[in-house]
Amino acid sequence: MFSYRHAFHAGNHADVLKHTALMAILQHLTQKDTALLVVDTHAGAGLYRLDGDYAQTSGEADEGLLRLTAKPAASPAPGKKPPAGGASKAATAERAPALQAYLDMVGSFNAKGRHRVYPGSPFIIHQLLREQDRLKLFELHPTDARTLLANIGQLNAGRQIEVFDQDGFEGLKKFLPPPSRRALVLCDPSYEIKSDYPRVVAMVSEALQRFATGTYMVWYPLIPRPESHDLPRKLKNLAIKAGKGWLNASLNIKSNKLGKDAAGEVVRPGLSASGIFVINPPHTLKAALKEALPQMVALLGQDQHASFELESG
Ligand code: SAM
Repeated sequence: MFSYRHAFHAGNHADVLKHTALMAILQHLTQKDTALLVVDTHAGAGLYRLDGDYAQTSGEADEGLLRLTAKPAASPAPGKKPPAGGASKAATAERAPALQAYLDMVGSFNAKGRHRVYPGSPFIIHQLLREQDRLKLFELHPTDARTLLANIGQLNAGRQIEVFDQDGFEGLKKFLPPPSRRALVLCDPSYEIKSDYPRVVAMVSEALQRFATGTYMVWYPLIPRPESHDLPRKLKNLAIKAGKGWLNASLNIKSNKLGKDAAGEVVRPGLSASGIFVINPPHTLKAALKEALPQMVALLGQDQHASFELESG
């Protein structure tokens, strides 16, 4: 069984990128009245505690959400210089609308000024759905699937949301094409097993054959492994072959080189970069990310390797 549990990673920099983009896409797609089907092929547990054992052990939200919500440093004492660097400047600047919408979304799950709960993709999506829209959630890990079912149960959403403790790569097929001919698919695997990379490509390829006009959003890690760098290239080829538009955005917050701690022990830097690849992106997505990504770099970046890329075709 898999050991990946999203609770360790909730609210990290990858979630900031992924959930900001997810919201920007959904906000656009829900402007048309026609019903939208949303399929989340790798849903996770739905809600996470940032003050729970899992999150506290990893502290990953400290490098993501909590850096965005931290209060700007106090003004320097008279006669002292303000701290150098873009992050402090960015902390006081107005947030890009997409980033602000994301922060407002997370804030709506928490008492003012506190960040104890982090909404995963199922809850973010649910918040943006209208009555006519439907959400299908797949989660294979038995514990997370049970937690997801219990969390979703509290929404009393009835038939609007269905949870499947099944393989999301396989499960997507039966929902395409949707009767309303409008769909967003979020594919957010843990890539714990190498076969996730080819399975993403196979799933998107088949989905495009079944329903070429759907919007497909894939999250991927950028790690020192050829498969992870090949994945966006392969998805781009699929989009080009199908004659569909695409957008690729990535965020890097720090060097991925091994470091040393104060005691001279080698420390692994953890995930330093990730990306999203979207096929049939809304025409508004690029502009939204063009404003938000430099702010993510300024606020989350930890060294001179911090950067973003944004391209589309
Ligand atoms: N999408 C979630 C979010 O943004 O809040 C996070 C999902 S997490 C990165 C990936 C999840 O996929 C894990 O909970 C894992 O148990 C689950 N998983 C792994 N393989 C799966 C598969 N083949 N089908 C469905 N879920 C799977």
